[in-house]
Amino acid sequence: MNQQGSNSRGKNVFILDSCVFTGLYNYSEFLGGSYTTQQVIKELKSLQAASMVEIALIKGNVREHDVSGVYVEKAREFAKKTGDLPFLSEADVSLIALALEIKERGGSPCVVTDDYRIQNLCYYLRIGFFSYKTRGIKSFYKWRKECPSCKALYSTTLKRCPVCSSILKTKLVEEERINNN
Ligand SMILES: [Zn+2]
Repeated sequence: MNQQGSNSRGKNVFILDSCVFTGLYNYSEFLGGSYTTQQVIKELKSLQAASMVEIALIKGNVREHDVSGVYVEKAREFAKKTGDLPFLSEADVSLIALALEIKERGGSPCVVTDDYRIQNLCYYLRIGFFSYKTRGIKSFYKWRKECPSCKALYSTTLKRCPVCSSILKTKLVEEERINNN
């Protein structure tokens, strides 16, 4: 496990991605003050994971938070800036939205996720994250789409060049090594 960028000030509020509920991993270390979102619960595929969440919710070990549209929009805007947006599901965006909301209220969110795109965005936003079963990202990446003819750069959300209609290619525009300490 690998924790990044976590705020030392105040107690961490853990925001749980689906990886915590899938598989038979012990997640007791995150229980108590942790949250997940309606979108994450909706995206759970296995019955086992769904019942695991249900029990955790009933026991009050995990709380479900309804993320507000304002923060979902903010999260999407930031994900456009890193280029991660087209690769994030509604559940992924909801986790970032919740983290933004908690941060804005003075809390210290820590997103527990194995998803590299979510981790990338957390790093960009200086939101703490915790890689659960994987080693976690080693670098931060920023992506754009490039037109092979005009060489102009566009958002990764576009498929074709707005000027010449060529099919855009994904291009890495920024890379920053992350120091693991
Ligand atoms: Zn073009």
